[in-house]
Amino acid sequence: MKIIFFGAPGAGKGTQAEIVSEKLSIPAISTGAIIREAIKNSTEMGKSAQSYIEKGALVPDKVVIGIIKDRLAEKDCENGFILDGFPRTVPQAEALTEMGVEIDVVLNLEVPDERIIARMSGRRVCPACGASYHVIYKPSAKEGICDKCGSELSIRKDDDPEVVKSRLEVYHSETEPLKEYYSKKGILKIVEGQEELADTTALTLAALGIK
Ligand code: AMP
Repeated sequence: MKIIFFGAPGAGKGTQAEIVSEKLSIPAISTGAIIREAIKNSTEMGKSAQSYIEKGALVPDKVVIGIIKDRLAEKDCENGFILDGFPRTVPQAEALTEMGVEIDVVLNLEVPDERIIARMSGRRVCPACGASYHVIYKPSAKEGICDKCGSELSIRKDDDPEVVKSRLEVYHSETEPLKEYYSKKGILKIVEGQEELADTTALTLAALGIK
């Protein structure tokens, strides 16, 4: 199955993508995580993307399309994949079609902006393995420590409230039009994000027809 998880930053796409990835044994591909890794390793791509990420702006289409093209060519994508955070613009969606990728379902996680702003202030990430947590909704077993690899958790620079506001503006102006794009193709499914993570997961799995 080829799935796109669609929604505002902080809507919970990454968390749901990880769950579905394990259930279906297909990779969850996050362009944001790939870019953050490139920044950490100071690659050329990372250096050029850093200023965009820190401002809460989108990295240019050409760069992210290149990232996705390379990643989807890898062997583990043969039986399907989940895209988390791509596409974010109409040209990115068109690039997927030009690559010959046929998406089965676009799952739109809807969460109101006010709840996103509140949520993002509690988000914590593992700088070593990329796992993500939330101090209230998805706490690690030991406060401040990653369950998966034991590293110290940190706060993403772009989760700063001012940056979150710009990221939401960018979402509404550049990414939200994709809802109509995929709705016209008849593959858009909407899930209302719930207070409890388990409730959102249940709705997500039901929308995807996964037991
Ligand atoms: P995310 O982890 O998905 O919230 O992405 C973090 C940041 O990475 C975004 O705010 C953008 O700066 C950049 N980014 C990730 N995916 C894309 C994309 N598909 N198009 C443009 N920029 C992206």
